[in-house]
Formats: sequence, structure tokens, C-alpha cells
Amino acid sequence: MQKFQQYIDGGFSDGAAQFESRDPATGQVWALMPEARRDDVNNAIEAAERAFNSPEWADMTATARGKLLMRLADLIAENAGVLAKLETRDTGKIIRETSAQIAYVADYYRYYAGLADKIEGSHLPIDKPDMEVWLRREPIGVVAAIVPWNSQLFLSAVKIGPALAAGCTVVLKASEEAPAPMLEYARIFDQAGFPKGVLNVITGFAAECGAVLTSHPKVDHIAFTGGPETAKHVVRNSAENLASTSLELGGKSPFIVFEDADIDSAVNAQVSGIFAATGQSCVAGSRLIISNKIKNVFLEKLAEKAAAVVIGAPDDMATEVGPLCTIAQRDTAVNLIEQSVEAGAVVVAGGAPLKRDGIFFAPTILDCSNAHGAPCLTHEFFGPVLSVLGFDTEAEALALANHTEFGLASGVFTRDLTRAHRMIRKLRAGIVWINTYRAVSPIAPFGGHGLSGHGREGGLQAALDYTKVKAVWLRT
Ligand code: NAD
Repeated sequence: MQKFQQYIDGGFSDGAAQFESRDPATGQVWALMPEARRDDVNNAIEAAERAFNSPEWADMTATARGKLLMRLADLIAENAGVLAKLETRDTGKIIRETSAQIAYVADYYRYYAGLADKIEGSHLPIDKPDMEVWLRREPIGVVAAIVPWNSQLFLSAVKIGPALAAGCTVVLKASEEAPAPMLEYARIFDQAGFPKGVLNVITGFAAECGAVLTSHPKVDHIAFTGGPETAKHVVRNSAENLASTSLELGGKSPFIVFEDADIDSAVNAQVSGIFAATGQSCVAGSRLIISNKIKNVFLEKLAEKAAAVVIGAPDDMATEVGPLCTIAQRDTAVNLIEQSVEAGAVVVAGGAPLKRDGIFFAPTILDCSNAHGAPCLTHEFFGPVLSVLGFDTEAEALALANHTEFGLASGVFTRDLTRAHRMIRKLRAGIVWINTYRAVSPIAPFGGHGLSGHGREGGLQAALDYTKVKAVWLRT
């Protein structure tokens, strides 16, 4: 059985305890993971604090930090195959997706490598002739970065990249559900040449590892990605250290299709919008809001595509939909579908787990036209389940789209650009995709509001968010 180690202060060690990780495609235990308990977490944070104050890191020029990040990006690209395979093995995310994603993970590091020496302060034109006043941008300090199991290499890159570019140090907590890719990533990071302690990678459970990390007095900022309920715990814990937080949480994103849309292109975007990553994606387009004029033809095409999706082993390049990562998610999907059907939702496709080894679930479409209060329209499944609502007018489409406590992503399909602009103005979401879905770039900020959290990842602002401003007054 494969065994992984945690990474603290530039060294690899077993945790205070160990736990087993299961392969979601087979249900079999395949690896032993290090469990960080209180002492491990404390050691990791203290190592990050020492590194933050060490001359090797604190006095390193921004350009030199950028070069190290560039080296890290190259190492990630060189080791892309191993990382993708491990992510697939531990999470069940299909190899097609993990391979494609790791390529742009390297691009995110490159982007932040280039930004490191472009984080500038500013001069203030104070109304006093004998005074020079300027702002320095300094790194915020020790960052606790917490990621969920889906897309960990990507979700950690959007934290580690800008944090290190700004000069912070990081303790990253990998998800206990599937820590293998992050623990392997630590081995690759170790070769890049950063001073010891600049990045520490641990994993463990909420009650001890998570709680100690988020309440620790030496943590200055918490960058969290996960579910909204967990985020509330994290924020409560941060009352202890008053660390700033950025929260990237869940979504229930509307995918709006008007009658003038290119239907085939919208169908394809909806298929990947909801079934990519087996629906385990925060930006999954999980509410199809469709013009009643094209609803039937659209659903027919969609159901046909859903039925034709290749479901199979995640490590097979031909597979389009793999297993769910955890049994808990499958159970959530089963319960929510049951309650929604009781509330009047009609199953158009799928609707149940598949009878095979592993945690497989049929790509599912629920028509909620007569079930506006159904839980499938309000709760995040984090699974391959699409809920459908019809509309007659643009105002109705908008009202349905905004009828959510989340506010992460949204998609609009129409050929009418004036209408697209009206929707862009009125949609309550951090991302609006027009005639496309799921497009991402290191240059574009990513994040939401409401139950989807606050703060942005990606783009220049994300690097600035890892800095604090110092106002300097100099009498001349
Ligand atoms: P989760 O909230 O259960 O766990 C996320 C991380 O938080 C894990 O590492 C977990 O160990 C840790 N954690 C749990 N309790 C904690 C505590 N009390 N203190 C500190 N850390 C704690 O989420 P999950 O089930 O692993 O992932 C699914 C969720 O993540 C979904 O809601 C999804 O939408 C969200 N997500 C959001 C984004 C985004 O960018 N907005 C991206 C991916 C996933």
C-alpha cells in the first residue's frame, strides 16, 4: 500500500497518526495518509512564522520570489502526469480532466511568478510641503490555506501562487478525503529551492487539525475553499486570532437559455456545465432556466446526451463521467432527489446510483416546472444532477436565476447582445459567462457573494489581498 508523508519546515514526516484513503472507483483502501494532530499543526505554523521572519525569505527580492515560482511552475509541468494520476486515483476525478487541469495549474503559478515584482506601493500627495507620504505593500503574514478534495491542485495554486508572490508563508491543509495529490505536490515544491518553512503541507480532520489551524494566534489570514457550513466554523474559529478571511464556497449556478440561442452549442455547454467533474464543481451549472418555447426540444437533446455519456473507470481516457468522491455525497443526492420528487419534480434522466462497484451515480435531469419549492432548486448537490425550470419572459428568467442564496457563477445563452447586457447588469453572481461556460484564466478574478463567500482568486487583486498596507510619513 502506498504511504504518504506530510511536509513541515522543509522535511517529510509521518503525522501523529495515520488514516486510510479509499479509491472511489473501487471502494478499496489504497493508501495511508499522515494525520496532523495539534502538535503537527503547531509545528507547521511555527515553521511558517520562522520562515516569514527569516532573512532568506523576508529579505528576498520580489524578482527572486518570482523566479522561484517560475521554477515551481516548470516542475509542476514536468511532473504533470504523476500529479494528474494521483488526483484521479484519490478523488475519482477522471484522468481527462485532471490532465487538462494540471496544465493550467502551471499557468497560474507562471502568472503569479510574473506578478511578484509588480505589486507596487504608492505615493500620496499630502497637503503639507515638508512631508513625504507613501504606502508600502507588505506581505500579510502566515496564511492558512484550506482546500476541499475536488481540484485541490488548482484550488491550492490560486492561494499559494499569490501568497508566495506577495512574500507570505503558507500552511496548506489538504482535504482528508483525498490528500494524495497535495502531499505529492509537496515533494515537487521541495525541489524548487524555496527556503524551508515557506510552504508546509499537512492534512487532517476538522475537529483537531482544522480547528487548531484556523484559531492559531500566529495565523494572519485564512484562505478557505469548501462548503458554506464549514466556512461558518472557520469564521467562528477566526474570532480567536482575528485573521482576515477569503471564502470560496459553494454554488447553485443558473444556466439560462433564451429561445434565440444556438441550441446545440448551449446543449453541449450544459452537458459539461453540469456533468464535468461528475457535477462536483462549485461552478456547476446546476439550474437550467430555459425558455418554454424551446424547453421540450432542448430537454430531448440533453437527455439523449446524458444517456450517451461514457461512464467508467476514472483512469480511462475514454471516460467522460467518473464516480463521486464520497459515499456521503451519493447519499445527499439520493435524499435530495427523493424529497424533490415528492415535491413534484419529474425525473427526465437518471435519478439513482448505478449498480456497479464504486460510488457511481447516473447523470440526472429533474424537470421542476411543477415543483418550484423543491430542494433540488436550492441545495447544492455537488453531484451530476441538473434541475430544470421553464420561463416565458426575460424578467421571469432573471427572477428565477437570482432566486438563490448563492452567488458564484451564471451562464446566459442568447444571440441578442442587448439582452445579454441587461442580464449581465442584473444577475447576482461573481461570474457571468455569455454563450460559454466554465471558462477560467489566471488573469480573471473568480469568486462570489452571499453563501458563495467573499474575496476573489485569480487576477491581480488576489495578490494584493495577500498584502497589508503600511503608511509611511517622512518629514523632510
Ligand atoms: P468541506 O467544507 O467539507 O471541506 C473543505 C475543507 O475544510 C477540507 O479540507 C476540510 O477538512 C476542512 N474543514 C472541515 N471542517 C473544518 C473546520 N471546522 N475548520 C477548518 N477546516 C475544516 O467541503 P468539501 O465537501 O470537501 O468540498 C465541497 C464544497 O467545496 C462544496 O460546497 C463546493 O461548492 C465547495 N467548493 C468551492 C469552490 C470555489 O472556488 N468556490 C471550489 C471547489 C469547491
